[in-house]
Amino acid sequence: MNKRAKNDAYKKLSDIRLFLIDLDGTVYIEGKLIPGVHGFINSLNRLGIHFLFITNNSSRNASQYVHKLNKLGISVTEKNILTSGQATGAYISKKKNNARLFVIGTSSLKNELETYGLRIEEDPDKEIDYVVVGFDTELTYQKLKAACYILSCDSTGFVATNPDLVCPVDKKRFIPDCGSICNILENATGRQPIFIGKPHTTMINLVRSRFNVTADKIAVIGDRLYTDIALGYNAGIMTICVLSGEATLQEISKSPFKPDVVIPKISDLNPQIEKMSKETTYNIR
Ligand SMILES: [Mg+2]
Repeated sequence: MNKRAKNDAYKKLSDIRLFLIDLDGTVYIEGKLIPGVHGFINSLNRLGIHFLFITNNSSRNASQYVHKLNKLGISVTEKNILTSGQATGAYISKKKNNARLFVIGTSSLKNELETYGLRIEEDPDKEIDYVVVGFDTELTYQKLKAACYILSCDSTGFVATNPDLVCPVDKKRFIPDCGSICNILENATGRQPIFIGKPHTTMINLVRSRFNVTADKIAVIGDRLYTDIALGYNAGIMTICVLSGEATLQEISKSPFKPDVVIPKISDLNPQIEKMSKETTYNIR
C-alpha cells in the first residue's frame, strides 16, 4: 500500500464507530487468544466505540460464545455477539411466523432457532417449510437422506447459515463446514440454498437495524477474504484484514477483494484506535 492510500485508510478508520469483529483466526485460534486482543477490546470500551463479534460459525449459539470469550478473559454479553445462526433465525421468522424447520445442525443451532419462534421437526414426513443447514458437527447420513427427501418438494425453502467450505482447526488443518455439506445436498438434489452469513449482507442489514449507524461508520475486521473482506465489499463498509488466521499477503495480492487495511494482528490497530476521541462517538443503541 502506498503512503497516500495508507493515510486515506487511516483517515477512514478515524470515522469508524462500530467494529464488526470476526472470531476464528481474528480473536483466537486453536482456542487460544491472539496476543493483544485484550488491549484492543479495552481501548474500544474505554473510548466508547461499539463492537460486535460476528461469526459464520453456527455450531455454537450466542450464549456459548459469551461463555467462551468470558473464559478467555474478554468481558462480553450476548449483545456483543451476532452468529449466522441468529441471523438465519431472524431471516426465516421474518419470512414466515412459526415456520417448521428440518435442521441439519447442532443442538445449539436448533435451540437458537427456537428462540425466534421457529419450530423444529425431527420427522421428515411431517410438513416442513424450510430445510436449514448449518455447520453440523453432529452430522449423520440419516440427516442428509431426510433433507434430500424433503427438498424433492419444490415448495420447501432451503436456507444455509454460511457458505464456508471449511473451518480451520489450526494453521494447517481444516474440517468440513456448512458450505461443504450444502455441496453434497446440491449435487444430490440440484437445489441451491439461500446463504445467510458473510459475505452475504443479511447480517449487516440486521446490524443496521439494531444500531443506528450508517455504512461509512462501520468496519469489518477478519482473516478470510471470501467471507469477511467480501462482506465489506458487498455492504459498502470499511475492510481490515488480519494476517493472524487464513489470509496471506500472497493471497491478498491475487484476490479480487482488496482490504482497505492489512495488519499482522488486531492489536496493531491500537495506535489508531487511541487517536479516536470519545467525545465524537455517535450515540448508538
Ligand atoms: Mg475467521
